[in-house]
Amino acid sequence: MENYDFRRTSTLVLYLFIILISTGASSMSNNDPKVQLIGTYTVVLDAGHGGKDQGARGKICLEKEVNLSVCLLTAQLLRESMPNGQIILTRDQDQFVSLQKRAQAANQNKANLFISLHCNAHTDKTVRGSESYIMGLHKTEENLQVAKTENASFLHEVDSFELEHDSPESHILLAHYQEQNLWEGLRIADFCESTFKLHHPGGSRGVKQAGFLVLHQVYMPAVLVELGYISHPDEEAWLCSFDGQLELAQTLAISITNYFAQQEFLARRN
Ligand SMILES: [Zn+2]
Repeated sequence: MENYDFRRTSTLVLYLFIILISTGASSMSNNDPKVQLIGTYTVVLDAGHGGKDQGARGKICLEKEVNLSVCLLTAQLLRESMPNGQIILTRDQDQFVSLQKRAQAANQNKANLFISLHCNAHTDKTVRGSESYIMGLHKTEENLQVAKTENASFLHEVDSFELEHDSPESHILLAHYQEQNLWEGLRIADFCESTFKLHHPGGSRGVKQAGFLVLHQVYMPAVLVELGYISHPDEEAWLCSFDGQLELAQTLAISITNYFAQQEFLARRN
């Protein structure tokens, strides 16, 4: 899989936001969890693996357990900070859920954001830190074909125009949505990594791009967050602890809230 480092581009996005904020148009700070949102949003939180699929194995705990605990805590925090929002979990217990079902939960509920949580592992036990992945560009064309063939109703959902599914117009429309979602995915990924950089004991390894299947099957901004390396002894202890899981959940909740707040702020400016 190809990986691209988006640090430069995403830093520009963050700078743009900081500049806009510093003009006095909003009192929101980048890490303020008490941001008041105007809109109502649906967020799908996806705890990676589950049931027979354990994910990466640590010495103290399993990846599937960390993913679920952080998902449940993040959902709880978001329900407090976004009382009008809808927070959907692809699983709330130790059960196997197919990638297709996870994507369906997001697509059928017309989610505004899809966040998949995972833990990483490496043969080099000194590697640590968080990473946020967005959809690989090399899959965009393929994703368009999936959207056209497997979700024929998609075109009718995104616009009231009656378009032939194989027409150039429909292709352009879908391409536009794909690009928009990729850009928005980059924005939420950048919020996550900027916050992890400050609060994650292993630091941030940045925003990257890869061909994760679950990201290709959702039709909204999506990010896959690797919460840390379960193969690093200290990081595993932190990932498996309640304190560590709560810190991760707080980071995610702040990032998600700020992502929507920035969206509202930019919309008001236009
Ligand atoms: Zn995983």
